[in-house]
Amino acid sequence: MSIPKTIKQIMPIPDDYIILTKVVDEVGNTHMLNFSPMGYRYMYALVDCHGDRSDEVDVYVIRPDGSGYVDDSGITLVVPKYKCPHCGIFMKPQVDDGDMNYVCTSCNEMQRVKDVRTGGVANVYQSV
Ligand SMILES: [Zn+2]
Repeated sequence: MSIPKTIKQIMPIPDDYIILTKVVDEVGNTHMLNFSPMGYRYMYALVDCHGDRSDEVDVYVIRPDGSGYVDDSGITLVVPKYKCPHCGIFMKPQVDDGDMNYVCTSCNEMQRVKDVRTGGVANVYQSV
């Protein structure tokens, strides 16, 4: 029997981050999609785990109809936004086999961030 979790605090996610949601398509491929344009909103939730373990920070998902839930299954990923070094517009993040790529929809510049699975998103280098 698991004890229900309690949200202790809701905190905004800074504007320089983008939230991706893991979606598995009909043939079993995993995609990380941005649902913000469809009206989804996201907050950080500080969750009290009642002494089972230390408190944890999960993503609180607000659906377009206003209902919400705490994502404690890790299907949402909070990643930094990056601007294209050529165009200055925000690049589109995409995850392939655990590697994070940022693609500019204007000039096709691509930057890669390794090791999304381990949370390492600091190492950005140009791949083209
Ligand atoms: Zn560009």
